[in-house]
Amino acid sequence: MSEQTSTTTTPPGAATSVRLPLAHLPAVVLPGATVTLTLATDEVRGAIEAAVRDTDGRIALTGGSRRELAVVARVPNIGNLPTGESAAIVQVERRARIIEVDAPSDGGATYAIVEPIIDGVVSSSVEAATRELRAALELIAELRNSRRLPELLRTVNSPGQLADSVALWAEFGDDDRLRVLQAVDVGDRVAAINSWARNHLNELQVAETIRNDVSEGMSKQQRDFMLRQQLAAIRKELGEGSDDVVGEYRTKLDDLDAPEGVKVFVAKELDRFERMSEQSPEHGWIRTWLDRIFEMPWGERSDDTLDLDEAQSILDADHYGLDDVKERIVEFLAARKLRHDRGLTRASDDRRGNGSVLTLVGPPGVGKTSLGESIARAMGRQFVRVALGGVRDEAEIRGHRRTYVGSQPGRIVKALQEAGTMNPVILLDEIDKMGSGAFAGDPTAAMLEVLDPAQNHTFRDHYLEVDLDLSEVVFIATANVADTIPGPLLDRMDLIRLDGYTESEKVFIAGRYLLPRQIERAGLRPDELSVSDELIGSIIRGWTREAGVRSLERELGRLVRKVTAKIATGQLTNDQLTTDQLTNDSDQSDQVVSDVDADVDADVATGTPITIGDDELRDWLGRPKVDDDVQHRTSSTGIATGLAVTGAGGDVLFVETTAFPTGPDAEPGLTLTGQLGDVMKESAQIALNYVRSHASELGLGDEALRQRFHVHVPAGAVPKDGPSAGVTITTALVSLLTGRPVKSSVAMTGEINLQGQVMPIGGVKQKVLAAHRMGITEVVLPARNGPDLEDVPQNVLDEMTIHLAATYDEVAAAAFDAA
Ligand code: ADP
Repeated sequence: MSEQTSTTTTPPGAATSVRLPLAHLPAVVLPGATVTLTLATDEVRGAIEAAVRDTDGRIALTGGSRRELAVVARVPNIGNLPTGESAAIVQVERRARIIEVDAPSDGGATYAIVEPIIDGVVSSSVEAATRELRAALELIAELRNSRRLPELLRTVNSPGQLADSVALWAEFGDDDRLRVLQAVDVGDRVAAINSWARNHLNELQVAETIRNDVSEGMSKQQRDFMLRQQLAAIRKELGEGSDDVVGEYRTKLDDLDAPEGVKVFVAKELDRFERMSEQSPEHGWIRTWLDRIFEMPWGERSDDTLDLDEAQSILDADHYGLDDVKERIVEFLAARKLRHDRGLTRASDDRRGNGSVLTLVGPPGVGKTSLGESIARAMGRQFVRVALGGVRDEAEIRGHRRTYVGSQPGRIVKALQEAGTMNPVILLDEIDKMGSGAFAGDPTAAMLEVLDPAQNHTFRDHYLEVDLDLSEVVFIATANVADTIPGPLLDRMDLIRLDGYTESEKVFIAGRYLLPRQIERAGLRPDELSVSDELIGSIIRGWTREAGVRSLERELGRLVRKVTAKIATGQLTNDQLTTDQLTNDSDQSDQVVSDVDADVDADVATGTPITIGDDELRDWLGRPKVDDDVQHRTSSTGIATGLAVTGAGGDVLFVETTAFPTGPDAEPGLTLTGQLGDVMKESAQIALNYVRSHASELGLGDEALRQRFHVHVPAGAVPKDGPSAGVTITTALVSLLTGRPVKSSVAMTGEINLQGQVMPIGGVKQKVLAAHRMGITEVVLPARNGPDLEDVPQNVLDEMTIHLAATYDEVAAAAFDAA
C-alpha cells in the first residue's frame, strides 16, 4: 500500500487512506515531534514491530484522552536504551483521521485504516495572522532569551508546522496539545497559538517590568554611580576632558550673589538636572536655563554718583539747547537723590502713581535716545536701549515658558544681561508703538508691572521663573506722540516734550556736535575739514525735511566719508577743491577707500583745512531730495496749505478741492479722499456748510453752491493730532468758489465751528517750526492759541508773521490778498 504524494492544492483530508499499525500513547503527540518510545507494553511493542516489518516503517499513533484523531509517524530504528530497555525513536509526520480500526491479529498488533491530513493552501488572512504570530514570537524569544525559538522561526516556513512546533517548544500541557492537534484547519491552529502567544507575551512583559523596578529600587544609586564613572571614562577616552558639568554649576551656585529664593530654586533645578538622562529634551532646556540664570548680573550694581551740578554739565556737554528739558531732567534726578539721601528707596516708600517714569516725547532725531544716554552717564550707570516698536506679545516683554520650543527670556531680562548690572538705566524706546496683542497676551499689562514701583521688585520673567527686583532700575521711555501711549502706562509717566529744532539750532548742533563726531569717526583730524554754517544750512534745506537732526547727521556722515575717500585716494589736497578736479581727476580713482588711515596723514599737509563750497554739494550728495513745492502747489485756486502734527513732527499738508455741476436731480454733496481721519471728515462737512451758510458774505451765487465738491488731502502727512484742518478746508473751498488763489506764503491751522468761530488746536510749536522749515512766512493760528507762541523760539517768531484769528473772517483776511 502506498500513500499518494500530496500537492499543495489538495484540500485537508483528501489524501488516500492507508492501513497502518496503531498504538495509543498516554501523552498527546504532535506533528514535528521526535519521541522516544519504550517498548514496555505489548500494544506498543506489537505495533512498532509490525511497522518495521510490514509498512516501510510507518505507524499511526493516538494519544491522551481522545482517540479519533491520530498522527502518522515514522520509525527509523529500534535500539536499546542505556538502561537495557528496548526503545524506538519515532518522528511524527502529520495528522491522520482514523477511518476504521481492525481487531488485533498477527502477533498482537492492531491495525487501522487512516487518512493522512495534509495542510491546505493558506489564505491571505492566515498569512497575516502568521506574520503577527511571528512578531509576537520574536519578542517572546527575546524576553525568554530563547535559542530554540529563533531557530524555529528561521527554519519552519509553513504556518501550520510553525504552530505545531511552537506548541511543542512551549511545553504545552496535554489538554492544550490536544486542542492544537484537533485544530485540523491551519487558520484555527495559527489563531490558537496566536492567542496563547499574546497572553504569554503579556505575562513576560509584566514580569520584566516588575523585575526592573525591583532591581532599580534597590541599586539605583549604585547604578547611577557606575554609569557616571563609565561616562567620565568614555569622555576621557574621547578627549572631551573630564568636564563635570553639574559640579561646575554647583561651584558657580556657591559663588552666586543672588537672593536666597533664587539660589534655592536653582539648587532644586540643578538636582533635577543631575538626575535627568541626557537624552531627555528637558535636559537641554534646563542646561540653557542654568546658563541664562548664571549670566544674570546678580548682585552687580553701579554706585550712584548723583551730583546734580555734574549731571547738569554732562547734559550740557552732550546736547545743545533743550534748556527746559534739561531742567526737568535735573529736577527728576534731584528728586531721586533726595529720596536716596533720606533712605526712601524702597518701593513701598514710593508714592503710587507719582509719574516716576520719565518719558521723552517728540519726533525722530531730536535727541531722545541720546538724552537717555546722558542721564545714565550723569548717574554713573549702565545704559541699555530696549526697542518696543512693533512688540505685540506679552512674551516679548516677559519671556516664554521654558517648555516652549526655542523659548527665551523677555526683553527686560535681556536688557539686564546686556547692562551687566541690576540697576542700569533702561530706555524703553518707542513705547507708543507697542501694540496691544489681542491674541498673545497684552504687552501693556506686562509693561505696567515692569514700571509699577509697587510690583516691580518681584517681577517674574516666564522663562527665568524667579523673582527679579527691578526697583533699582531707572526706566526712561520715549515716544513719537503721546496720544498712542496706552492709557494705563501714560498714568505712570512724566512727559517731557521735545518739539524739534529751528534751522539755526540745527546748524549749531551740526557744527558743534554732529560734524566733529563724523570727522572723528572717519579718521580725520578736526583741523582737516571745515564746513561753513551756510553750507550746513544748504544741506538742511536741500537734503533734509525733518523736525530733528537724524537725516542731517546721515547726510553729514556721507559728506565726510566722501571727502575722506577723496583725500585717501589723493584726489583732494588742501587746495581749494573744484568740480573739475572731482570729475576729471580719475587716474587714481580705483584706489580703494580702505587706505584711508594710511594715506590721510601723508597727503594732507597741516595748514588750512579743506573747505567745501556750495557748488560742490550736489556732486557730493546728489540731487537735493527736498523739493520746495509750496509755491508751486499753491499757485492755483482751490488749494490751501495746512499744518499738522504727524509721527515725524510738524508738517505742512495741502488741501485740494474741486467741484463739478450736478444734474437737476442729483444731490449736491461732498466727496472726500486721501489721508483723512474721521475727525477730518467732520471738519470737511462743517467747512462746506459754513461756506454754504455764508454764501452771500463771501459773494457766492446760488449756482456755485449747487455743485458736488471733492476735497482731497494727498498722501504724505498723516495727522496724528485729530482736528485742526477746518480752517484750511474752508479756505480751499472759498478759494475754489471765488476764484482767488490763497497766498503761497501762508499756512494755517485751526478748527472752525458752524458759527465761523476758530477753535484752538494743539502742537503749535511743532507746526510753526514746520512752516518755518518749509519757507512759509505767515501762519494763521486760532486766537486762543496765542499763549502757546511762548514755546516757539524767538528767532523763528522774528522771521514770521503770525496771524491770530478768532473768526473765519480774520482767517480769510490773512489768507487772501486784498481784492
Ligand atoms: P531720537 O532718539 O529722538 O530719535 P537721537 O537721540 O537718536 O534721536 O538723536 C539723533 C542724533 O542727533 C544723535 O546723534 C544725537 O546725539 C543728536 N542730537 C539730537 N539733539 C541734539 C542736541 N540738542 N544737541 C546735540 N546733539 C543732538
